Amino acid sequence: MKIYIIMYHYIRNLKLSRYPEIKGLDLKLFKQQIEFLKSKFEFITIDDLLNNKCSSKTDREGVLLTFDDGYIDHYTNVFPILKENNIQGFFSMPGKILKEGKVLDVNKIHFILASASIEKIKEDVFERLNYYRGKEYEIPANEELYQKLALANRFDSKDTIFVKRLLQAELEEELRNKITDDLFQKYVTPNEEAFTQELYMSMDQIKFMKQQGMAFGIHGYDHYWMNRLTKEKLTEDVTKALEVFDGVIEKNHWICCYPYGSYSDNVIEQIKQMGAVAGLSTDVSYYEPDRHDLFKIPRLDTNDFPPKSDGYLKNGCV
Ligand SMILES: [Zn+2]
Repeated sequence: MKIYIIMYHYIRNLKLSRYPEIKGLDLKLFKQQIEFLKSKFEFITIDDLLNNKCSSKTDREGVLLTFDDGYIDHYTNVFPILKENNIQGFFSMPGKILKEGKVLDVNKIHFILASASIEKIKEDVFERLNYYRGKEYEIPANEELYQKLALANRFDSKDTIFVKRLLQAELEEELRNKITDDLFQKYVTPNEEAFTQELYMSMDQIKFMKQQGMAFGIHGYDHYWMNRLTKEKLTEDVTKALEVFDGVIEKNHWICCYPYGSYSDNVIEQIKQMGAVAGLSTDVSYYEPDRHDLFKIPRLDTNDFPPKSDGYLKNGCV
């Protein structure tokens, strides 16, 4: 029994949006994808997945749609389409975006990358590293960092991965926040608060979606790489996230969607003790209940399905 769990991020009318270069799915293509999925698969709910009920419905393979990071796109563009087609979506977002009215660094990086050429941004990053090196911070040489981090993946070039990894995780937190903020103000906007309100959905919207049958999970509080956190930090991060979703998510029965897909045996052990019942990763495969651990549920990307590609036919061998 194969179940395809598909992962989505930005879904918007890209051409008409202020950031047409943002890495997202065009709304028109999302609609086409839904039609394709309707013709071929059986939509399942998150409970079907947890209770292993998928095979009883029909002999079609199951599909579950998951939406990460809490973008307003999911409320404005996605939710009406899911509702109309009687499909349950699974949504997860970091608690911080609801609690603090700040743009997450991971999103700042997306919009920085969508606002200038990667050559220019890379140059700017190197300049800033040179500026901070030796002052308050110990920073390896630029070439050394580049060698270590610039490894292209399925979706991004070497340079893009370099900037993302450097600013998401490699540098110490205070320094990476500083550089990310500098670049965000320079390339995107100095008005972070207004930008936050445009970017994410609100708790009222989340509650309404929940009441209308949509499902929600935990995606950390700060959107950290969970496998890089100490036990104490991970406990703190998850506790804060659970507090924000009080009333939306059951504290003793929740699903963790690992930020950046990053997990480890320690992370799994820890979140189990805190009430998690399953974990969604970004390991590339379909899901087979007999073969996969419920805490290592793999997901495919929207780009792995028509109209973008037929990748789902071959991405199943993890
Ligand atoms: Zn995320």
